[in-house]
Amino acid sequence: MSFIPITRDDMAKRGWDELDVIFVSGDAYIDHPAFGVPLLARWLESHGFRVGIIAQPDWRSKEAFMSLGQPRLCFAVSSGAMDSMVAHYTPARKLRHDDAYTPGNRHGARPNRATIIYTSRLKEAYRDVPVIIGGIEASLRRFAHFDFWENKVRRSILFDAKADLLIYGMGERPLLELLERMRDGQPLRTIRDVRGTAYISREPAVGDAQTVQEIPSFEEVCADTGKFGEAFSLITHEQNPSCAHTIVQRHGDRLLVCVAPAFPLSTPEMDEVYALPFEKAPHPCYREQIPAWEQIKTSITSHRGCFGGCAFCAIAMHQGRTIQSRSVASVAAEVTRLADMPWFRGSISDVGGPTANMYGLYCRDEVAHRVCRRESCLFPKICRHLAVDDAQAVTLLKKVRDSPGIRHVAVSSGVRYDLMERQPGYFRELVGHHVSGLLKVAPEHFAEHVTTLMHKPGKKAFESFLRRFAEETRRIGKQQQVVPYLISGHPGCSLSDMLELALSLKRMGFRVEQVQDFTPTPGTLSTCMYHTGIDPASGRKVHIPRSDREKGLQKALLLWHQPAERGKIMEALRELGREDVAGELLAGAGTPKERRPKPPRRG
Ligand code: SF4
Repeated sequence: MSFIPITRDDMAKRGWDELDVIFVSGDAYIDHPAFGVPLLARWLESHGFRVGIIAQPDWRSKEAFMSLGQPRLCFAVSSGAMDSMVAHYTPARKLRHDDAYTPGNRHGARPNRATIIYTSRLKEAYRDVPVIIGGIEASLRRFAHFDFWENKVRRSILFDAKADLLIYGMGERPLLELLERMRDGQPLRTIRDVRGTAYISREPAVGDAQTVQEIPSFEEVCADTGKFGEAFSLITHEQNPSCAHTIVQRHGDRLLVCVAPAFPLSTPEMDEVYALPFEKAPHPCYREQIPAWEQIKTSITSHRGCFGGCAFCAIAMHQGRTIQSRSVASVAAEVTRLADMPWFRGSISDVGGPTANMYGLYCRDEVAHRVCRRESCLFPKICRHLAVDDAQAVTLLKKVRDSPGIRHVAVSSGVRYDLMERQPGYFRELVGHHVSGLLKVAPEHFAEHVTTLMHKPGKKAFESFLRRFAEETRRIGKQQQVVPYLISGHPGCSLSDMLELALSLKRMGFRVEQVQDFTPTPGTLSTCMYHTGIDPASGRKVHIPRSDREKGLQKALLLWHQPAERGKIMEALRELGREDVAGELLAGAGTPKERRPKPPRRG
């Protein structure tokens, strides 16, 4: 086996007494491309760098951070696949007791604000060695941002972490360019022009009004929610690498300079990344199961990016809006390797990406694409320049399904059902072959003013999808159902909106098992609304469910069938003066003695 070195012994086996780059990660080391740090480590290794990984070090002292010695070029720090605060706390700010990225599902293997703490220990250990921070936590906290857990605006994480540079978005291009220049002798502090990076400066950013956009300062966005909304809108309009400016945000007497985003990877580049020699296994040092590995071990990533622009989701801010697809041949080669794994039993749990039916889609008008600043290609309506041809996605699914050793292929990534209206071939493939009895789709809400704030297609599109799903399911003679995913407590959603949603779902015959209580995570439009109380698109005030009580009541209304929620449901109905619908809503609910298994955590 040839994992990336995690000990001095591993280094010695490769004949190395020093590494070029050492990654420090908040996740256990699983050598699989679904995890950012191992993917980047393999990527750098393939470009001739000597790379090591320190996974989930004990952060209480600097010793664990010195286990692989001092790297020749730099440390690269990530909190892991999730923001450490999102990983540690529930939407009600209660401590979680599990961690899917840790052996044994144990909580407590990484600190709160892992990027900041790890960088601090590294600077204690090696004051002069550069530290580059990246991953989802650094990426989405690159500007002054609202932090739900402290209920305040925090400055850019780069100031708090005291790192030398920040990489945002997908790291292959910026990290490789930085390290190649450092390998050639250029000090990191002088590299100020790499796309996808951010740094702190006392000097103005290089460029003029054509290339540099200043947004309201940290002090302004702290003091004035209007300025916060203005800064957020400016940032979201600078996501297209073809036309984005470098963004500058003043923090006191210093500047955060965020160079324009990196360009997305082409299909050959994506294929190159996914063909790297991953072991497709957790490091053998682990003795206990790692839930995140069990979840993804038979899944295949076909693409990155999302152009849906859902307001509560930060994927586009991190992965970009351009769909970066692998070739069918590249995915098929991964399926062949998977089929050879001794533990593989013939079932693939997913072929997808952030949104499964965006595979292979692109903007067909190059000129329009170069200057496009839309947040979504689908909302408020599908852009006429979007190529929605599903031929490549259909070919992909058929190819994977027909591969030797494959018995069943599920698509468990989410789908955009408004887009699928235009993809009859993909729809037939999906419903005919890739739904394991239940198809998860996410209308999120039905109230039009809420779905508009969410940038979701709304109830009519969902109903139309349901009709087509039922027709197709009947035609092929299968027993299949749709499972709707919903969000409670979203900006704009009142208790009465939630009651109407609950009643609509009940009349449609749905019994909802999972409801996501909205969490204002860094970097999303919904979080901006949560903090400011304003919809930046219209400038209008929106209702914000802030109290734990209101959030609890909203969620309970959708879980009418769970006996434990009955007290809250009655409280909500009394508050709304709608006890008249109690009989309808609670009909068929379990008795207090009835117990249902706890549903798995979503996402
Ligand atoms: S399809 Fe339309 S919205 Fe999407 S990138 Fe192209 S021009 Fe912009």
